[in-house]
Amino acid sequence: MKLAKIDIKGFISTHLATCAMLLLAISMACNPAPQLTDEAILIQNVSIIDPVNGLETQKSVVIDNAKIVRIYEHSNVPEFGNITLIDGTNHYLMPGLWDAHVHYSFEENMRGAMNALFLKYGITSVRDTGGPMDIVLPVKIASTRENEDSPSIYIAGPLIDGSPNVYNDSSPYYPLLSIENTDVEAVEENMVALVAQDLDFLKAYEMLSEPQFKALMQVAETSELRVTGHIPLSMNLFSAVENGLMGMEHLRNLEMSVAANSDELQEQRLEWLQNPEGLSGGALRSSIHAAQRMEAIAQIDSAKLQAAASLLAERGVWQTPTLALYNNFATKEYLRDAAMEQLQVLPPEVSSAWSAAMEMSGTEIDPATMAYADWMRETVGYLHQHQVPFMAGTDTPIGFLIPGLSLHRELELLVQSGLSNMEAIQAATVEPAKFLGVEQRTSRILEGYEADLLLLRENPLERISATKEIEVVIKAGKVVFREEF
Ligand SMILES: [Zn+2]
Repeated sequence: MKLAKIDIKGFISTHLATCAMLLLAISMACNPAPQLTDEAILIQNVSIIDPVNGLETQKSVVIDNAKIVRIYEHSNVPEFGNITLIDGTNHYLMPGLWDAHVHYSFEENMRGAMNALFLKYGITSVRDTGGPMDIVLPVKIASTRENEDSPSIYIAGPLIDGSPNVYNDSSPYYPLLSIENTDVEAVEENMVALVAQDLDFLKAYEMLSEPQFKALMQVAETSELRVTGHIPLSMNLFSAVENGLMGMEHLRNLEMSVAANSDELQEQRLEWLQNPEGLSGGALRSSIHAAQRMEAIAQIDSAKLQAAASLLAERGVWQTPTLALYNNFATKEYLRDAAMEQLQVLPPEVSSAWSAAMEMSGTEIDPATMAYADWMRETVGYLHQHQVPFMAGTDTPIGFLIPGLSLHRELELLVQSGLSNMEAIQAATVEPAKFLGVEQRTSRILEGYEADLLLLRENPLERISATKEIEVVIKAGKVVFREEF
């Protein structure tokens, strides 16, 4: 009973004080000023925008060995000897952006210029969503983490298509981006050979039959690769997602799955896909889109759309709507003087080919193309309200979209569709990182994360177009761009 008379409060507070002092000593010992190489950079007195934690002001960020080494309160930065200083006063530091939908293999004359353009415009990571391995694999291999001359490149390899395949090298519009699979066995064989190579994800394409799609999903699951793609015309959204599709590009063929007469449309497609007239893959697909797309949009069934949104949200199926692509086709904003001037950044043979093609396209605005672009923005807003995740991607260099620059347009259009500025930034940073399973090391402003960073003159949380107000681009810890935009 005597023990009860011990001064418990005093005992505890003494010990707490001792513990606190010990903890302080330990944390100081664990957190001394870092040993830096002579390539280290200190960005002083900057506002940081972490896509998860948000805006924090008056920080100083130390970068070395391609990583964010330390983030200090600006008032509390130790003395560093020989270090490169960047004044971040009135500036905003955010992670480098992703373009989650690009094609290195689409335009040969563009390929060699793409990396420099991406970096100039602050794109430090990209997802190549379809191209033959002999082109995309060398591009990926050269993009090692330490290579400051290339964004980090993640590849799907070729589009995995059915028969007849769409991108079959039949014209400049349809370069050879895909593998044609005539039956299920062909899918299994081709997939086994494909996943043995250094791929980051897979892309299912539109002409696959349902059994082929399922065979693809089987191999993807065994090899632990995520699959994105277009809903095959033979299927609908619900069965594609139930079978494991984790990403959708361009919301492709969503409307056909949520139309009032979706079953009838699917029956019709299965008949057309028999291809009695022996059309090319590109022509067959175009004829089906032409016959069904606008008809479906004219009779969207709200209950089916809601069911689709719920399923996509529940499974976390990322949407990469590529709004800038459809906006460009619809508005022909590429014909505006300011846009034409921007072609100067392209290789001369590309800019002259594009100018000629733009002129050929004429100035006439097609109401159906416009209605489709409007429907896409509306649908993005709807899916976003239903918690479906999004990625920012463009399809560059398709559709006269300049590598890098076009991603900033995509961010504006995502915001116009209903994403907040922060959500648009997430769609171009942490969301693609999550899709590829690299969110623990990149696309955040946190100690230990990769130093792929943008220093902006203006706050993109207030005006999304401020992502273009780039003062400095840092890739793999090196300053790779520093001038007026
Ligand atoms: Zn594409």
